[in-house]
Amino acid sequence: MKRKITPVFSISVFESIRQTVGSLPAESGGMLCGCRKTGVITFFHFDKHATCSSATYVPDTNTLNKLLPQLNAQGLDLMGFVHSHPHQCTSPSTGDEFYCSKIFSANPDLSFFIIPIVDPMVQDRQFCMRVFVATQKGKKIKVERIPLQILEMETPAPELNLSQEPNATPAADIPPVVAESTDEIRTTKE
Ligand SMILES: [Zn+2]
Repeated sequence: MKRKITPVFSISVFESIRQTVGSLPAESGGMLCGCRKTGVITFFHFDKHATCSSATYVPDTNTLNKLLPQLNAQGLDLMGFVHSHPHQCTSPSTGDEFYCSKIFSANPDLSFFIIPIVDPMVQDRQFCMRVFVATQKGKKIKVERIPLQILEMETPAPELNLSQEPNATPAADIPPVVAESTDEIRTTKE
């Protein structure tokens, strides 16, 4: 599907990413939400229960899928995942692309998915975030790098209750990650 929207980060989202994913060793990550119509990302949830190793970020889908209905109810849609990579792995891996295809399958109304890759700050190295957008055409995932854009804006924080059990069946917007979708698989790229 053709992407007509340019994703933009609010300052607070950018700042939250810098203070969490950007300050921790690779790999860590979190969820990005906002308005799919405008492309503005106004909410970041740092995924502190993600399963991380030095080469893999596996989202805590349980918590995220519990959060999403609450965010959706407040006008915030799932827009992407930000995660950090070991230094010099500056773009999404084959595993990341594979996971995007699962996200698209689970969210048929999603036309693009934002997957910024963070190079965290360590001793002598500065924090860096490269923004990538995945789109799907047929079965193929296309990933392109776009400029990082930050908007000066103030947005109220959504009200969230993580201990709350959803009454209805939770929407499984975020599919669980299987072994094949980890960053460890980098050799299968065509
Ligand atoms: Zn990755």
